[in-house]
Parts: sequence; structure tokens; C-alpha cells
Amino acid sequence: MKLFPIFTDLAQRRVLVVGGGEVAARKAAALLEAQADVVVGAPALDPDLARLAADGRITHLAGTYDSHWLEQVWLVVAATDDRAVNQQVHDDAVARRLFCNVVDDAALSTFQVPSIVDRSPLIVAISSSGVAPVLARRLRERLESLFDHTLGPLAALAERHRARIRRQRPDLGQRRRFYDWLLDGPVAQALRQQQPAQAEQLLHEALEQPQEARQGSVVLVGAGPGDPGLLTLKALRALNEADVILHDRLVSDAVLSLSRRDAERITVGKQLGEDHQATQSRIHRLMVEHARAGRRVVRLKGGDAFIFGRGGEELEYLREHDVPFEVVPGITAALACAAHAGIPLTHRDHAQSVRLITAHCRADEDSLDWDGLARPAQTLAFYMGVGQLDTLSSRLIAHGRAPDTPFALIENGSRPEQRVVAGRLADLAAVAAAHAVRSPALLVVGEVAGLAGKLRWFGSYAEGLPSGAPA
Ligand code: SAH
Repeated sequence: MKLFPIFTDLAQRRVLVVGGGEVAARKAAALLEAQADVVVGAPALDPDLARLAADGRITHLAGTYDSHWLEQVWLVVAATDDRAVNQQVHDDAVARRLFCNVVDDAALSTFQVPSIVDRSPLIVAISSSGVAPVLARRLRERLESLFDHTLGPLAALAERHRARIRRQRPDLGQRRRFYDWLLDGPVAQALRQQQPAQAEQLLHEALEQPQEARQGSVVLVGAGPGDPGLLTLKALRALNEADVILHDRLVSDAVLSLSRRDAERITVGKQLGEDHQATQSRIHRLMVEHARAGRRVVRLKGGDAFIFGRGGEELEYLREHDVPFEVVPGITAALACAAHAGIPLTHRDHAQSVRLITAHCRADEDSLDWDGLARPAQTLAFYMGVGQLDTLSSRLIAHGRAPDTPFALIENGSRPEQRVVAGRLADLAAVAAAHAVRSPALLVVGEVAGLAGKLRWFGSYAEGLPSGAPA
């Protein structure tokens, strides 16, 4: 081991930063995070440092480097762009047995500053011993996405109750199980839900019990449109921690493959001959059953669970049955398809509002507000519309939307096989039929759809009827 890692307590201890530029400012800011008594020595300060000095948060030693600056100091950072000065600081520091870091100069440094993931009081520090800082930074980014930000408050909570936990769980095995429960169970969940008082309460109650009841829960997760890159970090973490995943057919394999290897995956889409209500009841039953058995259930839905996803109904059922839950939003089809088709849903010149509409309405119970939908200067995004394109275009035109309003149909939005087919509203059904557009597809109607021809950047694109097709 070339470097010995230590964590230092710098609170109220004097640290000298030599240099007054941007790099020095970054170092000073980091040291202030650790409550160090920061002294910056430089002829002049960059604006950030000048502000800190004016606020009395740092002390400015004005002038060129002087070895007297090292008096009373615990640690030195040299951040000047003058190698001779850096060398001098290093030599003087070594002579006084002070640890010294010269920014970006491993040879002149007697200590290195690691890349860190800060979930204080929990801190992960990474070092490549100065050999490959890029690698250390890369690793840091990975770890950063792995740990939820509530890990810090959770560690602080455990620290506050450490003595009590030790008393109530004297046996080491028992204590380990308690900490596992603390990390995975309802206390962590309450913190993620921004309910610190409830977290505290749950911890107290648990300590009064002889052992922890394994309580299951449900996370309702939006899986986005298919491209796994469009998952949120929270969604990814939930997939990593799941015991059971109940997913719709619309959720892509690419997304599912990111889940915990030994998680049980159950497809809960509509089954042959089953009506919607039966499917929904089956999903409700499964969620409650698995959660009651103490499992962490992820209910994974395409796009966002609250946009035409029946997420609300599922949560109502969970609440009625006292199953705790969390919700992680996903990128809904309209946003993903628009982005991947080069269609800005709002645009200063064309559309001041956007409406998300389900086109899944039977002709005999057509309850859509066609007058409202036909108004100009708005973008319409229709979900589940492939089967009723004829009705859609004729209703919109009958209620006053111009027949030459542009439309775009985005099939398999964000996925490798994405296709965009565009045209004029009057030709919608004919164009879609000619290109054999299939579900899942999203229909965008409005002037902005006309921009796809110019702004497209992903997948294939076709406009109007294929040449040779009957009009
Ligand atoms: N909750 C989902 C929508 C469920 S409704 C969401 O927020 O996206 C299902 C409809 O969504 C499909 O019929 C289709 O219109 C649309 N859709 C979902 N994923 C899509 C995709 N990758 N490309 C195009 N449309 C999609």
C-alpha cells in the first residue's frame, strides 16, 4: 500500500491553502465543509474566495508566499500554477513535518485528497494513489448512483441510538439482524418519504419488541418507455433490492435484466380471456400477498405509473390493506417519444400547452372533450390510439382543427426499433395503415409534430404515404 488512508478531524484546525485561483477556491470550499479554519495565502483572490473572505469565513493572507504562513498550521494545500512556488511550499512543509498536498502533482504531495461519496456521517473515499485520478472519479460516479441520499440521515439516526440499541440487543447476532432491519425496513422507508419523526418512532417501537417483524412493502416504479438508460436512479435501486417484481408486458427486457438476479419476476399483464377487472384484482391480490409475507415488492409499470397506468387504484388498494408503499416516477411515453422524435411538446411559436389523452374510448361511450381538443396552439399526445386513428382525426377535424395540422406517430419510442411516421391530420388513418403502425405507439397532433422532419435524430422516419400507395 503506497498511501495509508486516514480520515482527519479538521474542525477549527488551521489549514493553509496557497493560491487564490479557481482550484484554490474549490479546495477551500471542501475544507470549509469539514469546518476547518481555512487560511488562504495569495496576492489576489478569485471572486468566490473574495466573497468568503468578506464574509469572514476564511482568512486572507495577502502577498506572495512566505514560509511564515506555515506557522500554527496542521495541513497545507498548494494550489498555485507556479511550480517553483509549489516546490517551495512542499520543501518548507516537509522541513516542518507538515503534510502537504500539491494539487495535481503526486510527486510533490505527501498526502492525497481522495474522491469521495458524501452521505455524512457516512463517507466513502476512493484513491488511485495518484496514479489514475480519472479511474477514481469514474468509480466515485458509480458509487454515487448506488447509495440513496437518505443513507446519511439513517447512519446519524443509528448513531444517536447506538447505546440503546446495544442495551436492547445485547447479543451480537440479534444486533446485526436489527441493523439489517434498520437498513432495509420501514425506518429507512420513512426517511426516504421525508418523515424523520415517524422513522424515529418506528425505531423506538421496534426496540421495545423482542425482535424485528419482517414487514414487506411495495414500491410502485415507473420503468419508462423501454430504454434502460431512462430509468431513474431510484428505480434502479428499487430493482436491485426487490424480492418480487410484478411487471406489465410493456416493460422491456432490457429494463428487467437490471433487476436483482434472484428476484422473482411475475408478468401480470392481461391474460387470454381475462377482463380488465379480473387482471387488476389479480395484481392487487399478488401485491398484498407478497408484501404480507415480508417481501419487498416492486410493482413495475411502463412509463409512469400515474399516467394511464392505474397506479392510483393500486395504491388505494394497498392503503386499504395497510401495506406501506413508495412511488418512483418514470418517464412517460409522451415525454420519451417526443424527445426521441425531435418534437418539442411546447414551443413559443406553436404550442402553449400540451394535453395527455387516452384515446382508448369506445365509440359508443365517447366522452372526450372534442371542442377543447380541437383548439389551436396546443399539442395533443394520444396514448393507446392505434385502433381508433380514423375516429380521432375525423372528430378533431369536425370540431375545427385544421385538416393540414401535422401529426407524428411514434412506434416503440426510445427503443432500438423506433419508427416515426408523420403526415397531415386528414391523412392520419391512411398513412398509419400504409406504414402498418403497431402498438405501442404514441400519436402527437399539433404544429410541433411538423418539426420532427427537421429535428429528428433517432431511429427511422417516414413522411406521408409511401410512394406508389393508393391515396
Ligand atoms: N403508463 C404508461 C402508459 C400506459 S398506456 C406511460 O406513462 O407511458 C400504454 C400506451 O402508452 C401505449 O398504447 C402507447 O400509446 C404508449 N406507450 C407506452 N410505451 C410506449 C413506447 N415505448 N412507444 C410508444 N408509445 C408507448
